[in-house]
Order: sequence, then C-alpha cells, then structure tokens
Amino acid sequence: MQTLAFWILLLIFLGAFAAQVARRVQLIAAAPQTFSLDNLGVRTSRFVVDVLLQWRTIQERPFTGLMHAFVFWGFVAFGGYTLTEFLYGLGIVDLTHAGWFHAYRLALTPFAGAVLLGIVYLFIRRAFVRPVALGPKVSIESLVIALFIATLMTTFLLTFRLEEGGVAERVNWWVHAIVILAFMALIPASKHLHLVLSPVTVFLKSTELGNLPNLDFEKEQVGLETVKDLGSKSVLDAFTCVECGRCQVNCPAWGAGKELNPKTIILQTQGALLAGERERKLGEVYSEKVLWQCTTCGACENQCPVGIEHLPILIGARRGLASNGDAPEYLGAMYNNLERRSNIWGLGYDQRTKFVTSAELEIFDAAKHDVMVWLGCAGSFDADFQKSLKSMFAILRTCGVKFGVLSKEKCNGDPAKRTGNEYMYQELANANIADLKAAGPKTILTSCPHCVKTIGDDYKKFGYEVEIVHSSVYIEELTREKLAADTSREKVTFHDPCYLGRYAGKVDEPRALLERFGADISEVERNRENPYCCGAGGGLLFNDKEEEQGTRISDVRFKQLQATGANTVVTACPFCSIMLKGAGASAQSDTQFVDLMTYVNGKLQPRA
Ligand code: SF4
Ligand code: SF4
Repeated sequence: MQTLAFWILLLIFLGAFAAQVARRVQLIAAAPQTFSLDNLGVRTSRFVVDVLLQWRTIQERPFTGLMHAFVFWGFVAFGGYTLTEFLYGLGIVDLTHAGWFHAYRLALTPFAGAVLLGIVYLFIRRAFVRPVALGPKVSIESLVIALFIATLMTTFLLTFRLEEGGVAERVNWWVHAIVILAFMALIPASKHLHLVLSPVTVFLKSTELGNLPNLDFEKEQVGLETVKDLGSKSVLDAFTCVECGRCQVNCPAWGAGKELNPKTIILQTQGALLAGERERKLGEVYSEKVLWQCTTCGACENQCPVGIEHLPILIGARRGLASNGDAPEYLGAMYNNLERRSNIWGLGYDQRTKFVTSAELEIFDAAKHDVMVWLGCAGSFDADFQKSLKSMFAILRTCGVKFGVLSKEKCNGDPAKRTGNEYMYQELANANIADLKAAGPKTILTSCPHCVKTIGDDYKKFGYEVEIVHSSVYIEELTREKLAADTSREKVTFHDPCYLGRYAGKVDEPRALLERFGADISEVERNRENPYCCGAGGGLLFNDKEEEQGTRISDVRFKQLQATGANTVVTACPFCSIMLKGAGASAQSDTQFVDLMTYVNGKLQPRA
C-alpha cells in the first residue's frame, strides 16, 4: 500500500517536472545552435572551480557565497541518500539496512548541519536584510524553497532520534519524501532550475569573455532582430538565471543610474521565450535605449556564477538594430569617420605621418625589427596619447629594442564591432589583416587594451593569429633587470582598464611596474579583474554626454579614484584617460592623470 502510494505520488510530481522541463528543452532545441565544446581542458577546469568548488560564488560575496556553497555541497552529498530511500519507498530494493548506508548517513550529519546553517542565513538575508541586488519584491517561492530545504535537513536529523518502525518515524519518512517530490515539481518553473541547469551552462559558457562570432554575410546573417533569433546558449542562459543580481550590482551603467540592468535583460529574455513571443522585436523586449547603454565592460558575464553570457545578447541585438539603420545618431558620425578616413575621429592620415616623422619611427621590417608597435587611432591622432607613446619609445630605445610601425593603419574595428556594425568591422579587420600578413610581425606591442582584444582575439576568427602584448606587460618584463628607477616614493592610484584587467587578466604587471618605479599604490574600490568601467567602451566614447541618463559613468569612477586620497591617477588605456580627464575637469579637480608609460619614463628621466 505504502509502495503503491509512493509510486503514484512520484509519477504525478515527476510528470509535473517533466512537462515544464520539456517546454524549456523544446525552446532551447528550436533556437539557432550556438553551443560550442572547444577548449575542453579550460571548460573542465572551470567546471571544477566554479561548479564543484563554487569559487565564483564565494569570491565576490565570501560569507553569503560560502553559505550558498554549504547548501550546494549538501545537495550533492544527499544525492545517494535520496536515491537509496526512493528505491526503498518504491519497493525496488531495500539498502537502508546495509552497513555502508549507516556509515553514509553518519557522514551526512555535518552536511545537514551546514545546509541548515546556510539556508537559515539565506532565508534571513532574503526575507529581512533584502539587499538591493535581489530586487524590491520578496520572492515567496524562494522562501518556500528555503523552508523545504530546512524541513529536509530536520527530518533527516530526526531519523537518528526516532524509533525505527514507529508511527513518528513513518510520518517523518513521508514528510521527507513528499517535500522532495514537491521540491522537484517546483524547480522548473522557478529560478531554482539553476540547480539542474547551471552545471551545463557553466560548462557551455564560452572560454573567451565577450565572445562575438563573426556574422556570415553569405548566409545573410544580420544579427539578432527578434526573439526567435536568440541562439541556443542564450536561451539556456535565460532559464538558468538565479536572479542573484551580481551582474546588476557590478554593471557600471546600472551603478550610474541608467536604465540598463543586465539581470533584467536575462529575465526579459526568459519572459518573452515562455510567452511564445518568437516574432517580437528585441528592441521592444529590452527597449532600444537600454541596448545602447552597455559599455561592453564584461562585468556582468564575468561575475555571473552560473555561466550566463550577456554580451552575445546585447551586442547581437545591437547588430540587428545597426543592420536596419537603427543605431543612434552619435554613432552615425563615428561610422562616417570610419568609412571615409578609417579612424574614429575622421582625421586625415597626414597627421599620423607627421607623428611617425616627429617620433622618428621606422617602418616595420620583419628582418630588422624585434617588434611592431601598433599605434591605434589614439596613437595616430590624439596628441595627449602620443606623448605617452613617445615615453614608451624612449624606454624601448634605452633598452635597445628595435621596433617599427606599419606605414598605414586602419582602426582595428572595435568601435564598429561592439556597436553592432559588423559589416564595417569586417571591412576594417580584413584590410588590417592583409597589411599585417604582408608585414609579418611575430610580436605586436600596443598601449591600447582594445587593440589587444580585437587584434589578439577577434582577428583569430578570420584565421589570423599573432602575439599582441600590452605595453604594461612588455615594458614590465623588459625593464625588470635593465633599468634602475629614481628612488623617491609617491602615492598614486591605478585605474585598471576593463579590456586589460578583466578581458586580458593583466593586473599584476602594471602594479609591478609602478611599484618598481616609485609608486605606493593606494588601491581603488573595484580594481584588478573587476574594475569599474570608465564609460568609454561599446561606442559610448562618442555619445552625447549632456543627454546621458543618470550620472556619467566616468564621474562615478572618478569619485571612486578620488576617494583613495591619491592625487595621481595612473591609466593604461587612451580611452580611460580621455574619460577620466574629462570627469576630473568637470569636477574642477587638481588630480593629475598620468599614463603608465609616461610615469615609468618620468622616473628614468626627470619630468620636464
Ligand atoms: S557589459 Fe558592462 S555595461 Fe554592459 S551590461 Fe554588462 S556590466 Fe553592464
Ligand atoms: S544573470 Fe547571472 S549574475 Fe545576473 S542575476 Fe542572473 S544568475 Fe545572477
């Protein structure tokens, strides 16, 4: 009788579970296939670190993350116990009296204690503390799930106290079993589906941050226009979101009071998919305005503990808008510049030639030079940044490095790519690749982190591979034993560029250089691999600052830098430098901004 009742209950709850899961699986299967299994080694180690060890969850919020990890580890540890009890309940086999099962039960008691501790903490946090990342509404379903988990642990612990075969023990067994079944039925329609999906989502997450495969124009790909264009990984992502809000609180746009909230983007995707709105335009699902507020800093997908990738959705939707001529006006001017003059400012190439001549640069010759220096748009045309490059040239010459530049360069295409103008990006990239192939450098040196990402990662998608190194990394190694510094110490702060710290993971080299050359670094909040963006990325260097919603991102960052008490801010990206100098000027501050190369060179040769 008991066995029959359990079979009936299991089939009812399993049916409810399967029906809801099937709906989601169907939506994933119907989406254009974007799953990839390249770099299996990297994926496997990330799975161990982020799923099994829960490192990403713990890293950002150590205590809360640890409490969550207790629940997760308990969930895994109890798997065998639940299976054994279910096999008994279904009358298949009774292993509950086996010696190993008693030992296993005993071993589970510390896990039960840890899960109880974790779930009580998470319940209090969600119901009473209510951090902003979790949203204004208390999720009733989360509270119910917390009660379920607490009940499961309590009923498990009671099995050690209750007399076997007694009424209390039977009631306790049934409560435990029914709560598990109800939990199972509740999972698919809730954010707790991440329990099932997140290991898969983490494994399938691209090994490249901000991975944007090229559009294939021969296949008439134009980017994401409607809900049905979302790729299978994005659809899986939408059902995996645990609504923790880590992406939200780390997003510089959200932090500066803009409408963009990466968590909302994922939840809106989920809502549109479940509502069957396949033909709905993504510009309506998210609002066009929001799509253009993203700086592509990568903080959202880098912080997400369950492997969700926001940038393929955000930039994919931008591509859809740009291909229909719906990009904002300020981008139109930048696109014109790229089209007519192949650089973001639309300046004549004679200015680059003048700089090449005044800096006494040679044209790169693979037989003669150790390294090719890539100037980039800023290096070719921005007078301030050219001073920084001259500092780098001086260091290279002092160390005896032979270097040259291309006779002509086009913009690497980053501003076109990240704003969705894929056609223009591919034109620029292909032209540069042809020139680079003809010149044949083994190593390219640049001071622009966006050039590192685009030439180093994005050009690989055209089959062109070259080592491209940021100046902070190259000069750190070069000067390690060759140059002595002026010994006076100075308090400075360092702003990690998103495309250097987060995308390339280069955070130690600029600090090692600074410290070696006399800097006592006063670290700013949001530093190293998780910096707060300067606000320039994703084409936002060109937007109308006066029309910007909320506070300017650069102003928020400048205040954070000021709060360190250092009067010198060292930067390592031409665009960070432009944005932060602008913020400093608006605040009428006397803070000094110095590029890393200028700082190092100044310690070798007294500043003028
Ligand atoms: S990439 Fe940066 S700006 Fe864009 S949504 Fe993510 S966190 Fe926000
Ligand atoms: S997308 Fe990731 S980080 Fe953002 S709320 Fe969902 S699970 Fe959390």
